Amino acid sequence: MKKRTFLKLSAALAAGTVISPMTSWEQGEKLQNWAGNIEYSTSNLYSPTSIEQVREFVKKYSKLKVLGTRHCFNRIADSTDRFISLRHLGQLMELDPAVRTVTVGSGVTYGQLGLWLDSKGFALHNLASLPHISVAGAVTTGTHGSGVGNGSLSTAVAALEFVTADGEVHNLSRTKDGEGFKAAVVGLWKTREV
Ligand SMILES: Cc1cc2nc3c(=O)[nH]c(=O)nc-3n(C[C@H](O)[C@H](O)[C@H](O)COP(=O)(O)OP(=O)(O)OC[C@H]3O[C@@H](n4cnc5c(N)ncnc54)[C@H](O)[C@@H]3O)c2cc1C
Repeated sequence: MKKRTFLKLSAALAAGTVISPMTSWEQGEKLQNWAGNIEYSTSNLYSPTSIEQVREFVKKYSKLKVLGTRHCFNRIADSTDRFISLRHLGQLMELDPAVRTVTVGSGVTYGQLGLWLDSKGFALHNLASLPHISVAGAVTTGTHGSGVGNGSLSTAVAALEFVTADGEVHNLSRTKDGEGFKAAVVGLWKTREV
């Protein structure tokens, strides 16, 4: 992915505990997708623990790709250079009951969010097919849930915070930023990194 890339750090959205098998990431093993049908072209993985580290990393390297929960079943999620994983910094979940939105960090999965929302008396109207898929990853790939009238999962996003190639943090909202927001909320990137 070239530097026009952005990393979604959080998303404000309008509810099984299955643990994803991701424990081998930092033990030097070959990095594969969740289904095991794709072996990624590099195991070069950086897992920042702060937004500052994310910004520095993105500024430093011209070629990188975000690694989510690795549920993508094709090479659109592959990188020949390096991955950045946001799982260590994105566990935020904040509910605003008055406007019925929840803000989630980039590491949050639908399984975590669903259980947490349920404990607060709320639920999402639509979900990805597996609980351990990250909200950010599902939204950015245009993943759909169920029901022809529900829209893809990205249609539930009200606002985004993301880092651009220059390391700057930006915010876009559906109500204020119109087409710019729509262009950012889903992003499918080619495998080839030029
Ligand atoms: C075109 C497409 C359509 C899909 N449709 C469906 C569907 O309808 N229903 C379903 O259940 N599953 C679907 N999947 C499978 C799965 O839900 C998606 O791959 C989803 O992205 C998985 O999230 P993940 O965190 O595992 O992402 P990964 O598989 O790790 O990565 C997928 C893509 O998302 C990017 N990405 C991940 N996190 C971030 C982030 N924080 N910021 C920026 N980019 C990020 C990655 O760089 C990569 O390009 C689809 C996959 C693809 C490729």
